[in-house]
Amino acid sequence: MGYRVSLIPGDGIGPEVTRAAQVVADATGAGISWEVVEAGEPAIRAHGTPLPESVLESIRRNRLCLKGPITTPIGGGFRSVNVALRQQLDLFASVRPARAIAGEGTRFPETDLIVVREATEGLYSGVEHWVDREHSAAETVAVVTRRACDRIIRFAFELARKDHRRRVTAVHKANIMKTTGALFQTAFREIASAYPDITADERLIDNMCMQLAKKPSEYDVIVTTNLFGDILSDLCAGLAGGLGVAPGALFGETIAAFEPVHGSAPKYAGQDRADPVAEILCLEMLLRHLGEREAADRVFRAVWETIAEKKVVTYDLALPGYTSRPVPASSCSAMAKEIARKVPNVDLSTPLPRPASAGAPASLDPQLEA
Ligand code: NAD
Repeated sequence: MGYRVSLIPGDGIGPEVTRAAQVVADATGAGISWEVVEAGEPAIRAHGTPLPESVLESIRRNRLCLKGPITTPIGGGFRSVNVALRQQLDLFASVRPARAIAGEGTRFPETDLIVVREATEGLYSGVEHWVDREHSAAETVAVVTRRACDRIIRFAFELARKDHRRRVTAVHKANIMKTTGALFQTAFREIASAYPDITADERLIDNMCMQLAKKPSEYDVIVTTNLFGDILSDLCAGLAGGLGVAPGALFGETIAAFEPVHGSAPKYAGQDRADPVAEILCLEMLLRHLGEREAADRVFRAVWETIAEKKVVTYDLALPGYTSRPVPASSCSAMAKEIARKVPNVDLSTPLPRPASAGAPASLDPQLEA
C-alpha cells in the first residue's frame, strides 16, 4: 500500500532536514511518495508569492503533508506562511510532544509531555493595525471563539484518553484577560467534567513557565491558546533536549501536517549542519498517524540508538552538556544516513529505557480526524 504526501521543503535549513526525512522514509519501505510543493522563499522566486494556491490544493488533495520550516520576515514584510497555512486549511490542533531522548545532557531526562495548542486564532488571528499615522500606537486583537476553545479542549482530552495519559492542564491568563481568558477557562471547566477519568487542572501562563522549569515531569498534556502554546512548546523543547529534536503535528478535521517546532535557522542554511532529528521524528508521527506502527517504531528506535551511541550526531548533540565526553560533530546528511541504515536492522523485541508511550504517542492515529 502506498501513500501520497505533500512535501514542503521550506527555506533556510528546511530543504536539508526534509531531505533527511525522505532518506529515512525510503528506508522504512512504507511506500510514501512525495508531491513536492514550494512555499516561502523558493516560491517567492518562482511564483512571486510565498504561498501559491497550488500548495493548498496539493495538501487538500493528499490530506497529508510533511513540512520544513519557513522564514517569516520580522516586523514587516509578508504575513507568516505558517500561520496562513494553519488558518486556510483549518489546522486547528498543534500537537508538540516534548520527550527526552537518550542524551546525557537532556536537562530533564524524565520529560514526557504534549503541548496542545489552538493554532488558528487568538493573538495570531492577523487582526492588527496602527492606531495613528505616526505609528506611535498599535493594536493586535486576540480573537477567541467558543467554538475553537471547545474543539481544541475536546481534542486534548481525547488525545489524553487515547494515549493513556492521566492529566490535562489548561494554561491561560484569565485573571488579566477577562474575556478571552475567561472564555477558554469556562470551556475547559465544562468539557473537563465529561472526562472524569482524567485529572483536569489550570495554571496561569506565568506560573506554568516557572513550574515547567522546575518539575516538567509532573505535567502530561497541556492545552492552551495560540501564543501561549507557541512559547510553551519551545520552552518544553528546551527541557527535553533542544529544538533540534522537537517534532510537531497539525491536525484539522481531515488534514494532518507534520512540521518541527524549530524555525528555518538561517545561520545554518546550506551548510549541512542542522540537526535532522526533529524532521525525522515528524516522519515518525506521520507514520503513526497512517497506522504504520512498526515503521514508526523503527524510526524512533533508530533515532534513539543513534543519539545514544554518539558516533554520528550533529553539532547540537555533540556539544559538551549534551554529552559528558566531547564527540566530533557530523553533518545533517551523515546523521540521516546513519539513522536510515539502522531502520531495517533495529531490534524491536527489547524495550527502550523509556515507556513505549513516551516514544509513541498512540493518540496520533487517523481516527482523530473523525
Ligand atoms: P529557529 O528555531 O530557526 O532557531 C532558534 C535556534 O535554534 C537557533 O540558534 C538555531 O540555529 C537553532 N536551531 C533551530 N533548528 C535547529 C536544528 N534543526 N538543528 C540545530 N540547531 C537548530 O528560530 P528563529 O531564529 O527564531 O527563527 C528563524 C526563522 O524561522 C524566522 O523567520 C521564524 O519566523 C521562522 N520560524 C518558522 C517556523 C515554522 O516554519 N513552523 C517555526 C519557528 C520559526
